[in-house]
Amino acid sequence: MRWNCLLVGCCGLLTVLAPAASGQSLEELRQSLPAASSESLDRLQQGISDRTEPAPELERLAPAEPSGQPGPQPETVNPNRVSNQPTEAATRLRSVSATAEGFFIRTVGTMPEVQVSRSDGEMTLEFSDAAISFGLGTEQLPVDRYSVSAWQLVQTAAEPPTLRMTLTLAEGSPDWQVSTRIDGVTLVPRDVAIGDVPDVGAALLEPVAVPPPAGQLTPSPSMGFSVPNGQVTVVIDPGHGGRDPGAVGIGGLQEKQVVNDISYQVADNLRQAGVNVVLTRDSDYELELEDRVQIAERANANLFVSIHANAISLSRPDVNGLETYYASSLGQRLAQAIHSTVLQTMGMRDRGVRQARFYVIRNTSMPATLVETGFVTGAEDQPNLRDPAWRSRMAAAIAQGILLYIQQRGA
Ligand SMILES: [Zn+2]
Repeated sequence: MRWNCLLVGCCGLLTVLAPAASGQSLEELRQSLPAASSESLDRLQQGISDRTEPAPELERLAPAEPSGQPGPQPETVNPNRVSNQPTEAATRLRSVSATAEGFFIRTVGTMPEVQVSRSDGEMTLEFSDAAISFGLGTEQLPVDRYSVSAWQLVQTAAEPPTLRMTLTLAEGSPDWQVSTRIDGVTLVPRDVAIGDVPDVGAALLEPVAVPPPAGQLTPSPSMGFSVPNGQVTVVIDPGHGGRDPGAVGIGGLQEKQVVNDISYQVADNLRQAGVNVVLTRDSDYELELEDRVQIAERANANLFVSIHANAISLSRPDVNGLETYYASSLGQRLAQAIHSTVLQTMGMRDRGVRQARFYVIRNTSMPATLVETGFVTGAEDQPNLRDPAWRSRMAAAIAQGILLYIQQRGA
């Protein structure tokens, strides 16, 4: 959808003019969507020229040694509880996520009305005339984040229905400031920086890559290393699809054609390196922004990467280059790792690592970035973006930037 494109910043102009305005009230723009495009993606043969070098010896994924490194993650029991009774209500609770500021409880419908009470070790939010969305389960609630060890949601079907949310607070949990807004409720620690609020069982929650062998920290096109299967989950989000072509550039080049191809290949590259990859979509259909965030949260992803191509105006073919976005400091290093790796590999113009409040990177709770791989309206970028070989190299470079980040983080 075009609105989608505006929202996530494929249009550099809007990005510049209104970075803070993204995120809400774009529903109406959906009405002006272009007609469905039945054009399906011609998936391209790969052959990633600069990844032909064999990967260094994979450290075979023997189950972790009993000595030395900490062993595999212990089995954890999800402490969250959801007790739902389907009912009509003015406000519907969709999700709870940990964000870079605290927690965000997403709602749809009428602006939520909440009463808050706190006792020792517990905080209760009582939502009036509210109900739990069908499909919201315990696994979609945070576990052991920011000193909140568990969430309990209880629905009553009384008239009017109420929804009671109880947070189990770990010792030393800060005072949480609860604010309502049209699309949900935010919880932000009062008088304390979020960085100083520890996760309850952080060590159990953050699977990290094995430390790389020494001397592999310099990114290069041939860098390859492996992470143990299943230890790192990366969500790759092809920015557009279906009747949402994204930006349309010189010669009618559609953003979705470019970014779907790149995204699938990024996924392939990462899988070959042992990363668990979840694509928000694996074929050409339309997908709401909110659904993408949900996919990432449900997958318990460690990283989220949304892939786009940029546009400004057909009258500005002089604007070209790579832009990589993050929403909060959580995603900044990931954005930088990808950006610098792509620049080194692709020789594009550098339009910088930038901060913007795009929906998918703002509402995901893990480090998240949005890569604008070039301008479909740019005289220099457009021929590249339409070149399958160039797209393969771009995909390899993005994958490598992600691996670099994982590797450095694990070191
Ligand atoms: Zn886009």
